[in-house]
Amino acid sequence: MASPATRGHPRDWRVGIQSPDHGHQLRCRQVLNETKPCDCPGCTRKRSGVSRYCGPHRDAASSRGDPLARLPARNELAIFKKAIGIYMHTDPKFAARVAFDLRSLERRMVLPQSFCLGVADLHPKLPQIAKAKGLLANWQHKDKRTYTEAVIRTVALIGWMQVYFHPGPAGGLWVNHQRFLETRAGALMGDFRKTIGTTALIKKASGATHRHLGRDFVRHAQHIYGKDFWSSAVSTNDGQSMTILDYTKRALKAAGLL
Ligand SMILES: [Zn+2]
Repeated sequence: MASPATRGHPRDWRVGIQSPDHGHQLRCRQVLNETKPCDCPGCTRKRSGVSRYCGPHRDAASSRGDPLARLPARNELAIFKKAIGIYMHTDPKFAARVAFDLRSLERRMVLPQSFCLGVADLHPKLPQIAKAKGLLANWQHKDKRTYTEAVIRTVALIGWMQVYFHPGPAGGLWVNHQRFLETRAGALMGDFRKTIGTTALIKKASGATHRHLGRDFVRHAQHIYGKDFWSSAVSTNDGQSMTILDYTKRALKAAGLL
């Protein structure tokens, strides 16, 4: 696929020009693909278009990253976030290094206010990358939130994936593991909205736009906290040694969430 043009502000960016026979190639693939069954276990429908899934499962996979998994609950993620905080208290040296790295990342990732995108800026020729940058700029300038928040929540999500996603209680197909994580990480940035009087006009951001942002959040989370953060050792008040993930599972069980 051709790269999009990204000159000026995101609202002026345009999708790349497709090759002339692009549509024809797609249709040939589609005809063959639609004779095959949906990849979801237990689903009896045929695939739709060029997707591995039937229509309904394709739509769910596109917006959520996986057709079957349930989404993380707010109170579940809160416990993972709390566990991260507790771990930081037990290792001040690690905490200081993380805080330093997050501060420099925060400075690097601040977008200009002119990158904000409103509902009126959305049009069919707007490329994915423009929508992603626009959502992040809205998050930073309209919502007054930080990149750091998104990274910390992503660390919590990575822990949640290890407990709840395939083969955990939230279900989900293993092949979509990374895709689901990236989609959920980016979904924190929400949608495009505009308030007129007392009514809010919402234009949903697609799963692909959320994944575009989520990929960076996951990369930064793993770079700063380490890929094996949830396997780090902690010792409990009664002197037991366990991983921070096992410690968190205990807290989830105590709260009736596991
Ligand atoms: Zn299906």
